[in-house]
Amino acid sequence: MTPIVSYQNVTKTYGDLEVLKDIDFNIYPGEKVALIGPSGSGKTTLARLLMTLEEPDSGIIEVENKNLWQEEVGGELVKAKEKHLREMRKSIGMVFQHFYLFPHMTVLKNVMEAPMTVLGLSKKKARQQAEEMLEKVGLSDKLDVYPAQLSGGQKQRVAIARALVMKPNIMLFDEPTSALDPELVGEVLDVIKEIAFESDMTMLLITHEMDFAKEIADRVAFFNEGIIAEQGDPEELFNNPKTPRLQSFLSRFN
Ligand code: ADP
Repeated sequence: MTPIVSYQNVTKTYGDLEVLKDIDFNIYPGEKVALIGPSGSGKTTLARLLMTLEEPDSGIIEVENKNLWQEEVGGELVKAKEKHLREMRKSIGMVFQHFYLFPHMTVLKNVMEAPMTVLGLSKKKARQQAEEMLEKVGLSDKLDVYPAQLSGGQKQRVAIARALVMKPNIMLFDEPTSALDPELVGEVLDVIKEIAFESDMTMLLITHEMDFAKEIADRVAFFNEGIIAEQGDPEELFNNPKTPRLQSFLSRFN
């Protein structure tokens, strides 16, 4: 099967720090992949490259068979221009640790905005789809409320609806529950679980919630010091970690 996302020999450094070391990593259509690993191991950087928030130093990243960071102009490969990146981003939905909602817009407007401005949907159509998505995340009673009036868990559910309404083929979640009070984590994980189980969207999740990763992921990749130190089936990886680094990492969660 052809991967929907493919990192080939990808390296990224910040100053002297090599954050990603020659990464080869494929994600297949419909796959739910969880990235786990200690802080500073390079997980977010991997996701930021895909979100086009950071550029790789070397290597190739392909999304749906198209080169993300380079485009062909007159038979030559050149650094991708903003128009190419914008087009590529339409395939990718993102949910961050901090929600980045538009504070001056109601919940409904937050979700309607991109379908109108990016996809060119009519106001009526955008409203209808936004309402549907907000129902899916359990926020039908908050349409006219502003973000400041919501709990962290509710804000994150709006952020999820806002990403989903664009109907991306790939969803990235970068520690979506790390900024939440513990009692609010469950409602957000439940929404993500439901999406994972009912949709054939490809999902990449960076998470410290090991039970959650075990439950929803088809594959778990363990990052350590800029490499994928171990990856595989969740049951196998969690129950029978092979590398001492993963054994030691997992022992912190028991
Ligand atoms: P993780 O998501 O696994 O916690 P990150 O990808 O966020 O890891 O970070 C990997 C390393 O890169 C860390 O040491 C971090 O401090 C460093 N880093 C990340 N972003 C930058 C940046 N913009 N400038 C300098 N160093 C950075």
